[in-house]
Amino acid sequence: MTSANAAWIARDLAHVWHPCTQMKDHEQLPPVPIRRGRGAWLEDFEGKRYLDAVSSWWVNLFGHAEPRINAAVRAQLEQLEQVILAGFTHEPVIALSEELTRLAPPGLTRCFYADNGSSAVEVAVKMSFHYWRNTGHPGKRRFITLANSYHGETLGALAVGNVQLYKEIYQPLLMDVITVPSPDCFARAPGQDWADYSRAQFVHMERALEQHAHEVSAVIVEPLVQCAGGMRMYDPVYLSLLRAACDRHRVHLIADEIAVGFGRTGTLFACEQAGITPDFMCLSKGLTAGYLPLSAVLTTESVYAAFYDDYVKLNAFLHSHSFTGNPIACAAARASLALFGEDDVLTKNQALAAHMGARARELAAHPHVAEVRQRGMIVALELVRDKASGTPYPWQERRGLRIYRHALARGVLLRPVGPVVYFMPPYVVTPAEIDLMVEVAREGIDLATCD
Ligand code: PMP
Repeated sequence: MTSANAAWIARDLAHVWHPCTQMKDHEQLPPVPIRRGRGAWLEDFEGKRYLDAVSSWWVNLFGHAEPRINAAVRAQLEQLEQVILAGFTHEPVIALSEELTRLAPPGLTRCFYADNGSSAVEVAVKMSFHYWRNTGHPGKRRFITLANSYHGETLGALAVGNVQLYKEIYQPLLMDVITVPSPDCFARAPGQDWADYSRAQFVHMERALEQHAHEVSAVIVEPLVQCAGGMRMYDPVYLSLLRAACDRHRVHLIADEIAVGFGRTGTLFACEQAGITPDFMCLSKGLTAGYLPLSAVLTTESVYAAFYDDYVKLNAFLHSHSFTGNPIACAAARASLALFGEDDVLTKNQALAAHMGARARELAAHPHVAEVRQRGMIVALELVRDKASGTPYPWQERRGLRIYRHALARGVLLRPVGPVVYFMPPYVVTPAEIDLMVEVAREGIDLATCD
């Protein structure tokens, strides 16, 4: 290692405690210091470039340093960097709220802001519980979640999630939730249709609602793709059935579109593919095209009305974060939404998604690739030790880490989730860059599965 990167690494390791990291791992593989980003590429201090195939933790939509978003951020910086959103307001948050409610599934007319995804989930959970309390149903205080779901790391969000790697240790601190089997189609029988499998799995949800609806506030789901749970996917029919059942049982539906929103699944919002409107829709990550921390919870007039009252009745939603609705973040979000129209992004993504899927499916015959699955701009490959029996690799072997290391050496940022290699690139990725991504993944998979 030459000196430019090494100096930054030494300074980093002296004080920075990295997220989601066993810091001892950095004895073997130091963090990669990034000096700048352009388009789909990141560059370190020695000029080595990395193709950002994971959109920097699924946040980046239009590449790094996108000129039009840069300009919007710069312009806003000159006007107003931050102002309290309680009692005050500003143009970027007003215009963004108008735009989001115009684009969202019909009926979502109210926007409440926070500054990260987990906080948005906390808001939706609290708001749902509080709605039932305000409307005379204080006993509705539990939540139904899907196995293998992920909704963030703060205690409420962790409680309604179900990835044991992140959750198990903190279990004593978490509220008790009702967990039902996932519609995840990886578990379907060979040859079984996605829709059939997802529909069949709904029986578990129906049963849980029948049994618990009187004490349940909301069902929370990641629409169509359980991302942190290994990019596990299911059919939109599950969401349609869920919407109808939630209505029937008088339970809210929270759609966590933090990872899947803003075009990742092919439509602007994943819920559109089922033609449903949730009671709460959580947005973050791509909301600002990955520029700045911001999140929003969209909800309905009916929910809003349940909080609209005389102050002394104490029915208001007294939740806040200091940076709620930050003007610069809202300006980035507006610029990002404008690009969807200006560049006809969703249409262009269809060709990119077709190319990415076709190239990735070439790996389906690999002896250790159990499945290649796709929903729009998300493609995932599931590695197994034994394909015939579906036996997974023991997690302790960390096969995905070998792929990560190989890809870094080859100038691609792939970050497998356990045994799942996936591509979720920014929408400015080119077909040639997709070819590189897939080729490097193939080499990495070969290396990681050769013993
Ligand atoms: N929900 C989902 C579906 C997510 O994928 C994530 C982040 N990976 C979160 C919530 C939490 O968002 P944040 O990391 O911004 O707290």
